[in-house]
Amino acid sequence: MKMPAVKYARTFPRAGRLVKIMFLSAIMWVCVFAFPYLGYRMFFEEDPDVQRIWAGATLGCLLLGAGARLLIYLIGTKIRCPLCQGAVFQTARCRMNPNARKYLFFSYSTTMVLDMFIFRRFVCKYCGTPFRLRK
Ligand SMILES: [Zn+2]
Repeated sequence: MKMPAVKYARTFPRAGRLVKIMFLSAIMWVCVFAFPYLGYRMFFEEDPDVQRIWAGATLGCLLLGAGARLLIYLIGTKIRCPLCQGAVFQTARCRMNPNARKYLFFSYSTTMVLDMFIFRRFVCKYCGTPFRLRK
């Protein structure tokens, strides 16, 4: 599973939409990891006043994470691969391209977002075409 060289990668049209997805995903994952911790602090807090603060933080974290996921869904329905017209951020049960990248324990879409953060490029999971975020 080697990342294709930069020179073969095409630019993705209107890559700003992908940057939005990247930052919403970052917010969502922070919420996913913060939620159990905040919930734990809420349940095991002795002082009722402080407990109320933890409860508010837990609820806020839940709403923020759910809102981020909803926005990712709404933006993701509009983003299609320019070559194969596949909705790259929607979950599909079809067979993926052999060149599509998938990290262990992560989904294809999450792997794409991680690749955007690490390499600034990604591979379409349907047609296997490498894209880059920058020109
Ligand atoms: Zn594609």
